[in-house]
Amino acid sequence: MTTPSSRSKNAADENVKRTPASLWRTLRRIYSYSRPHRVRLFVGLGLTLMATGVWLVIPLGLRALLDSVFEQGDQDLLNLLAGAMLGLFVVQSLVSFSSHYLVQWVGERLVTDVRRDIYSHMHRLGLRFFSDQRLGELTSRLTNDVGAVRSAVTDALAQLLMQSFMLLGSVGLMVALNWRLSIVIFFAVPAVALTSRKLGLRIRDLSRSVQDRLADTTAVSEEALGAIRVVKAFAREPHEIRRYGEAVEDLFQVAQNRVRIAALFSSIIGFLFLFALVVIFWYGGREVLAGRLTTGDLVAFIFYAFNISRSVMGMSRLYSTLNSAAGATERIFELLETEPEIEDAPDAVVLPPVQGRVVFENVTFEYAEGQPVLEGVSFSVEPGETLAVVGPSGAGKTTLLHLVPRFYDPSAGRIVVDGEDVRDVTLRSLREQVGLVAQDVHLFGTSIQENIRYGRLDASEEEIEQAARDANVDEFVRSLPDGYDSLVGEKGVKLSGGQRQRISIARALLKDPRILLLDEATSSLDSESEALIQQALERLMQERTTFIIAHRLSTVQHASRILVLDEGRMVQEGTHEDLVGKPGLYRRLCELQFRDSVARLDGDSALRA
Ligand code: ADP
Repeated sequence: MTTPSSRSKNAADENVKRTPASLWRTLRRIYSYSRPHRVRLFVGLGLTLMATGVWLVIPLGLRALLDSVFEQGDQDLLNLLAGAMLGLFVVQSLVSFSSHYLVQWVGERLVTDVRRDIYSHMHRLGLRFFSDQRLGELTSRLTNDVGAVRSAVTDALAQLLMQSFMLLGSVGLMVALNWRLSIVIFFAVPAVALTSRKLGLRIRDLSRSVQDRLADTTAVSEEALGAIRVVKAFAREPHEIRRYGEAVEDLFQVAQNRVRIAALFSSIIGFLFLFALVVIFWYGGREVLAGRLTTGDLVAFIFYAFNISRSVMGMSRLYSTLNSAAGATERIFELLETEPEIEDAPDAVVLPPVQGRVVFENVTFEYAEGQPVLEGVSFSVEPGETLAVVGPSGAGKTTLLHLVPRFYDPSAGRIVVDGEDVRDVTLRSLREQVGLVAQDVHLFGTSIQENIRYGRLDASEEEIEQAARDANVDEFVRSLPDGYDSLVGEKGVKLSGGQRQRISIARALLKDPRILLLDEATSSLDSESEALIQQALERLMQERTTFIIAHRLSTVQHASRILVLDEGRMVQEGTHEDLVGKPGLYRRLCELQFRDSVARLDGDSALRA
């Protein structure tokens, strides 16, 4: 999918004035990816030159045919020349097949390598990077930008060589044939080039507008189709259809403008070409009549003139191809050079299987500099304990949980798991021992079995089913026609919220982490689902150190300890019994819950005061 922003970026590339030197500097970096395959590339490019060489020789063959054979009526020479040309064409076809294959092979290989590198680099980057980027932008790096780069390495490089060789060769041979007639061509070529450049720029501007309008229509349709439930609920189909209709109508206006200019362009170029042809015929004819030129010379001449015009047009197109490839290359390297914020320390050790003692020592954390979201938070959780984190929304509860698996690093203080600072151990060994069950469950668009298996990739079917039983989801899964092989739809849309949640609990059970991070669902479920989930969660929490963002009174009552956060500070800590008796935020949150059964423990912050 091409996002609007990636389109406008591609268009912007063409506007950037790059000197040939800077263009080369940029592109050289991407060419470095073809280094392992340079033999293929060089052979391919060499063959491209050879194929071009054959094209350059063909007019000379025709010339010989016309001049020697027809003038002298020599049948044997005709046979010989026809045979030689046939042979030449066979060679040409073979050479051009091999050169195409080799050059494109290197291109495809390079695309594969660059894509893999970008993708694996993306996975090294931290969550901070992903919150700053739009998903569409990132996928566009992998698809559009890599595609643009491919064409620079293969087609453009081959074209550049071929067209320059064709141009130089044709000019040289033309002058050798008849320099006076060549002068006519040298006047005609700049005229054609200038006209085509002028109209070409206009077409490019219009093409860009077409692209922008196209992006608008995509945005309009994506927005509406993505929110199809809202559209239907408000019966806004006619409104959306009209909006889309207006967008495509706008697109039509610009597109028909482009079509007009493009039609004009091709007929003007056609006319200029034929005009030059007539001039060559007329002037060349006079030279033939005067005995300064043979018929064969004239025919060969016309072929070379044709070659020259083709090369000139081809090369002007190349510049814009290379320019957008340079833009794409810059964006790709910008991404590849983004340093991961969270990485294994050079001397990181593997965290051995832990008991699950977690200590926060004076932890301060900020997403944006100077705006702490957590400030001086200190506490410890013993193995097997359940720590309920409560507080108004925006207090920093989720952030606190995210520091345990080191999604982010604190700006001050440290987090210690079983005596090891989380920054001193490898990310993998840490995260393998931490499980996360989030409120908004993300499932992959595959089968239920695959989704549960995500918890431990080498789990057997029995283990998966056992986890599902413990998560109270086995019965439901079995009631489906395809059982565990049932597909859940994109992001799990085919399942209810409660079913998704239980699958995610099964996934966590399968992973069997020592430390568990739970974000209790705020959305109300029917009491049956709620009971099933509650039971599943209790099984999951057994004998694990659990951090739970609690929204229900029943959860906090069962917790070993409660930590009350307010605007990033720890304001209270203790058991429910300790805290509920004392004046403070916790008691106010509880009172809210009792007064109004809908209110949760994170009730509106306005009610705190
Ligand atoms: P809670 O879970 O208690 O509702 P959060 O930990 O989600 O609170 O958020 C605490 C504060 O940090 C909020 O003010 C929120 O706007 C901010 N915040 C959360 N995530 C990010 C992020 N990825 N980038 C910047 N700010 C964030």
